[in-house]
Amino acid sequence: MNKLIYSTLLLASISSYAQSHNDVQTGYFVIDGARTLLEKIHKEKKFTIDHPTSKGYEVYGPKELKSWLTQNSPFPFYSLDTKEKEKSLSTYPTPEEIGEKLKVLAKENPDIFKLFSIGKTENNRDLWVMKVSDNVEVDEVEPEFKYVANMHGDEIVGREMLVSLLNEIASNYKSGDKETLSLVNNTEIFIMPSLNPDGAASKRRGNGNWRDLNRDFPDVVRDAKSFFSSGSIFDNAYVDHQKETLAMMEFQKSRHFALSANFHGGTEVVNYPWDTKKDDFPYKDLVVDLSREYAVKIPSMRDNREFVDGIVNGYDWYEINGGMQDWSYHWHQDLQVTIELSHSKWPTYDVVPSYYDKNRDSLFQYMKSIHQGFGVQIKNVEKFTVKISSIQNGKENLIDTISVPGNEFYKVLSEGQYKVQILANGINKVLDINVKKDQISNNGNFISILK
Ligand SMILES: [Zn+2]
Repeated sequence: MNKLIYSTLLLASISSYAQSHNDVQTGYFVIDGARTLLEKIHKEKKFTIDHPTSKGYEVYGPKELKSWLTQNSPFPFYSLDTKEKEKSLSTYPTPEEIGEKLKVLAKENPDIFKLFSIGKTENNRDLWVMKVSDNVEVDEVEPEFKYVANMHGDEIVGREMLVSLLNEIASNYKSGDKETLSLVNNTEIFIMPSLNPDGAASKRRGNGNWRDLNRDFPDVVRDAKSFFSSGSIFDNAYVDHQKETLAMMEFQKSRHFALSANFHGGTEVVNYPWDTKKDDFPYKDLVVDLSREYAVKIPSMRDNREFVDGIVNGYDWYEINGGMQDWSYHWHQDLQVTIELSHSKWPTYDVVPSYYDKNRDSLFQYMKSIHQGFGVQIKNVEKFTVKISSIQNGKENLIDTISVPGNEFYKVLSEGQYKVQILANGINKVLDINVKKDQISNNGNFISILK
């Protein structure tokens, strides 16, 4: 086949495929607590399900969703679309006002804050990220952590909470608070209050093109099944994704994130991977512990009657394809959980501080957890291999083999003893690693290997 025709065909099929999956122009709540219709809706592919509970679930899709539900649903359903009038009553800051707040914070705290944009949205808004660290202008060898919120534009609490977190970090750092000093001085933290400012501006789930960004990432199962072997999305290539998704993909590639969280709203729970497949996550004990640690400090999350202990495995809850959490770990070894912060996606503005107050301790604890691990930096190599074995009762058990692009790697692990083998051109080193909670050290638990 002519190469040009071939690639045009490929692009056309990818583009129609993607369109059929994450158009979220309209949304309904279906009162189907027994999930009788859920599988049928999921099979339609063009509809997106969110937040199933014992009362029912949300369904989003293109305009035709309403007539499909009318024809197919024996259950009542009601619209979730924000009316124009309701939008104008919003007292929340606009994305531009959030941008201004971040600029002021960066200007007032130049020692520890650096604000930058990782790209533009479909409607040409900046995608702001605040770097938080000492020597903030320097790319230091320290564990890298990130928080991202508001990728669903109508789920607003996370955005406000991350701005509050930045405020508290700034004032704690100034007052010499020990916990904040040791965290900021030994970690590179990246905080992104909004991945979907276009959606937030219109108080809607989708972005400027009405796409659901949390269904827009390369998916190891969906995209492997749906594409013939050139499968460029399967290879995590940059084809037909929304600008916000592409910006995140590029940003992630440029860093070495080892731990992150993605904030949403609609219920209160910590959702851990995988979302797209039934298989156990390779570090299941670790991710369950970290999720529990987050939820246990928040009574309304811990005691949410829809879940046990305020946590849930993504796939057990409901299958998601193209989510950020699975993509983050599968392609970048960045352990990510999705945290649902509030039953109301858009509560009245005056209650927002109460959400920060109840999440505050968990937010700090989760950031500190990145120090529960080890890092390796090798000078003068472009790639290397890390083999991790756990040691239990004197027995060695190989648990992971990781090919690392670049010369820096960091891994969060459960508490315990490990043997780590580092293999690179001319290097074969075995390290004994003891992983403990809260072991923040001056070298950020990094081991430097000189070739
Ligand atoms: Zn969401």
